[in-house]
Amino acid sequence: MIKKVLIANRGEIAVRIIRTCREMGIGTVAICSDIDKDALHAQLADETVCIGPMPAKDSYLRMDRILSATLATGADAIHPGFGFLSENSKFAALCRKCNITFIGPSAEVIDRMGNKSEARKTMMEAGIPVVPGTREPVLSAEDGKKAADEMGYPVMIKASAGGGGKGMRIVQSEEEFIQHFETASQEAKSSFGDGTMYIEKYIPKARHIEFQILADNYGNVVHLGERDCSIQRRHQKMIEEAPSFVINEELRRTMGAAAIKAAKAADYSNAGTIEFILDQKNCFYFIEMNTRIQVEHGVTEMVTGIDLIREQIKIADGEKFSFTQEDIKIQGHSIECRINAENPNKNFMPSPGLVTSLHMPGGNGVRIDSALYAGYWIPAAYDSLIVKLMVHDANRELAIQKMRGVLGELVIEGIDTNIDFQYRIINHEDYIKGKTDTGFVERLLSGNGG
Ligand code: ADP
Ligand code: ADP
Ligand code: MG
Repeated sequence: MIKKVLIANRGEIAVRIIRTCREMGIGTVAICSDIDKDALHAQLADETVCIGPMPAKDSYLRMDRILSATLATGADAIHPGFGFLSENSKFAALCRKCNITFIGPSAEVIDRMGNKSEARKTMMEAGIPVVPGTREPVLSAEDGKKAADEMGYPVMIKASAGGGGKGMRIVQSEEEFIQHFETASQEAKSSFGDGTMYIEKYIPKARHIEFQILADNYGNVVHLGERDCSIQRRHQKMIEEAPSFVINEELRRTMGAAAIKAAKAADYSNAGTIEFILDQKNCFYFIEMNTRIQVEHGVTEMVTGIDLIREQIKIADGEKFSFTQEDIKIQGHSIECRINAENPNKNFMPSPGLVTSLHMPGGNGVRIDSALYAGYWIPAAYDSLIVKLMVHDANRELAIQKMRGVLGELVIEGIDTNIDFQYRIINHEDYIKGKTDTGFVERLLSGNGG
């Protein structure tokens, strides 16, 4: 039985995990860097261990110190959250070696799915539709260009180790290929320490549709429906909703079955997400699997009533599912807006600093996941996501109206945020009509409408 969990993360996701642990009667240990001593997660946990200086590489990414803190406090499990060490198979393996339960899939599964090019191969072998592209990573810019020329442009160059929209480039024509390949590969090398690249056909006017899955340790896999994350800037999600405007019952069944098949092919356990691209003809293609809890998990929780963190802990604790696919019901519609400390008028430049005053909205069907408080200093060293604003209502139209009200009420002073920009999207005619694709935000920014 898991009795005490160390949360190897910070910010709103650490707070989110602490809350569920508390509900379950499980003790919590926070870790923090020295600049995070006053951060909300460090204050809310039962115990807090400061594990190093501000740079993530000296604190939140230090496996040795995190494992020492776990053993010293007698925690029996680690929840990695997202980002940081959440998809690091070496860390998962080290936990196992130290007899600590890693709340997530095994090191082997993380390895299998964490490398995006390898994951594509696994999915092709399992008969899951995958975006047309190279079967193996390409070894040089010239090899890549040859493959792209055969495929036909536009193509997408991607990093095998990629994540968070980094190490990725769209190439429109053969003249641009070599240059884009070099910069993307460089970016991948500096962000992930691995410049290995692969090529996919670029799917224009696509939607990003992902399926949340849960798998216990006994071969039971269920899906919790889809999330539509098509509102993106630079391949990073800004708004997510569940269910998707374009998915009907039949397509949900087909894609859900593919997601379950994908998870089974990966021998998956715990919570995970199968990401698909949906083209304009409603054909879907696997793009990657995220082997962790996802930023936007809350919208799925709102429409299913299932606490995904609780399920993650129960699965890691060896519990068998007490429910089947038929028990999972999608109710109403949920939307999340990611509020970042950044300035949309300055090319979304991060805007860290002191939060001088704060007013959080509330009300029926409103959920806020955040680690902000008035007087808190947002450090420049970490991610700029500061508030996840979520709403739930009977249908999409009502959920949009609710989000409009909530965005209008939220006040964060002292720093710049993207609140007004989110308000613009939520009020855009095309967004309201559900006429969106992954290019919506870039078109809005270039002044060509939504
Ligand atoms: P999600 O779908 O959950 O938003 P993202 O891919 O956007 O997934 O990543 C979620 C978080 O994890 C972001 O904070 C992002 O910066 C971080 N992240 C994703 N991949 C990596 C990686 N390979 N290395 C470090 N951080 C990552
Ligand atoms: P990351 O690991 O950074 O999350 P993904 O492979 O999930 O990278 O892609 C991020 C986003 O880029 C997708 O959500 C989608 O909007 C876009 N994208 C990825 N692959 C393609 C593709 N082949 N065609 C069109 N858009 C794509
Ligand atoms: Mg992705």
